[in-house]
Amino acid sequence: MKKQLASLLTTLLLVGAAHAFEKKAIGYDTTPQLPSGWRVHDGTRPQPEAVAPGAQIGEAPADAIVLFDGTDLSNWHGVKQDNPKKKRLNPEGKALWKVENGYMQCTPTGNLVTKVSFGDCQLHIEWQSENPPKGTAQGRGNSGVFLMGLYEIQILDCYNNSTYADGSAGCVYGQTPPLVNACKKPGEWQVYDIVFQAPRFENETLVSPAYATVFLNGILVQNHTKIIGPTTHKKLPVVKPHAARLPITLQDHNNPMRFRNIWIRELDLLENTDKPD
Ligand code: MG
Repeated sequence: MKKQLASLLTTLLLVGAAHAFEKKAIGYDTTPQLPSGWRVHDGTRPQPEAVAPGAQIGEAPADAIVLFDGTDLSNWHGVKQDNPKKKRLNPEGKALWKVENGYMQCTPTGNLVTKVSFGDCQLHIEWQSENPPKGTAQGRGNSGVFLMGLYEIQILDCYNNSTYADGSAGCVYGQTPPLVNACKKPGEWQVYDIVFQAPRFENETLVSPAYATVFLNGILVQNHTKIIGPTTHKKLPVVKPHAARLPITLQDHNNPMRFRNIWIRELDLLENTDKPD
């Protein structure tokens, strides 16, 4: 009986201690205050949300929207073009790029556009240019990721292929060259990881420009680069107010570019709710 009582008491003590431990925040409440209002190592600061990474490097994490998984173009549409005098006839505006062997391939049917609109985001996209390469300068392995359909991060086969610097792979087209030329050989898969901060407009006025951070094949090519306006060819950008979220476009530039493993994470880079009460 004595033994049983002792065992019961021990159990109660252990449960009590565990409970007390659970309640006690891990951190400090006497440390100096940071500019954010939190204390250094603040025990009451909310924990970051858990996001399960993909099983392999480059695979979509649990909170990503998969835009292309290698099987179909159900998340995309094309651009309607029913004037027979124009190139890239696409009378119904359908996504008409070819899908085979786990990739999509650009056909001369116009740009592809996501059905969903996005603002701030993290975008992963893998691309490949034809091998052997054809054409020179801007005519070789050209496509592009148009964030919000307006801001082009250039895709170009820049392996032993010269062009103007602000038209190179990894540039903000017509504005900012990449920090380095990180291109692999044509025929090899190349990887973009892009963090995009959408511009903010208030009452038709630009209050915060767009920014892009870009890694090409794991190499930093744009570091929080300010985008001064929609990217254009041979012209200066003209800033016009637009919606907070717009679709992403992949460019048809008459080259048989291939894409695979496209996923996106929606972000809100200016929303900072992480402040103490
Ligand atoms: Mg392009």
